[in-house]
Amino acid sequence: MTMRRPLIAGNWKMHKTAQETEEFIERFLPRMENEGEIEVLIIPPYTSLDRAGRLLEGTPLQLGAQDMHYEKEGAFTGAISAQMLKGCGCSYVLVGHSERRELFGDDDVIVSRKLNAALRAGLLPILCVGETLSEHDQVEEKITRQLTADLAGIDGSTLANITIAYEPIWAIGTGKTATPEVAQETISMIRHWIAAHYDEATARGIRILYGGSVKPANAASLLAQPDIDGALVGGASLVAESFAQIVDAARL
Ligand code: PEP
Repeated sequence: MTMRRPLIAGNWKMHKTAQETEEFIERFLPRMENEGEIEVLIIPPYTSLDRAGRLLEGTPLQLGAQDMHYEKEGAFTGAISAQMLKGCGCSYVLVGHSERRELFGDDDVIVSRKLNAALRAGLLPILCVGETLSEHDQVEEKITRQLTADLAGIDGSTLANITIAYEPIWAIGTGKTATPEVAQETISMIRHWIAAHYDEATARGIRILYGGSVKPANAASLLAQPDIDGALVGGASLVAESFAQIVDAARL
């Protein structure tokens, strides 16, 4: 029914040296099939990107970064630009992950700048949105406020290059997963918001992932939901076999 290609993305956060990244890739690549219908992406820390990019050249496994700066270059000590990520072989970049928003002060103005800079550079952004536990009762308000601010000025054809990840913050790294029904309900709400603010075709085409304690045991039931187009996986993406099992679940 859907023409949306599922995406399974592994966000490694601050885990793995370049050597450990190489070991993961050596274990994981043989577990990949010729993934025509599914996109698979690893998102290692910056220090692993160059090595990963070299190892992944010519393979179906894609590479992404966890964050970027919105300026092209300049006096921004410690920052990394979109062009630098592309130079390492990245095709994707996370923007507005809840840990960036909560721990590093990325507000919606900064998220919007990063989103635009990524698109200008030809990177495919994965825009993360989500509510905390105390905001859960007002999930719709919280998410639509984020979408309105983060997507300001983005037109429908540009939106087609963006993947949205709905990540309830109370489910990230906590072992608590949103039930498939709750995740579906919020993701369907996001799709309706896009239909209302853009149009039906844009809403039908945009890919929306679920993230928050996705594991081999719960992946299939989440991915079976009609509006869930893939998963953003943290902890369970660090081990090649468990990440491979989540990819297998997307193939079912
Ligand atoms: C994440 O980092 O985006 C995430 C969902 O983490 P975890 O799967 O560990 O909850």
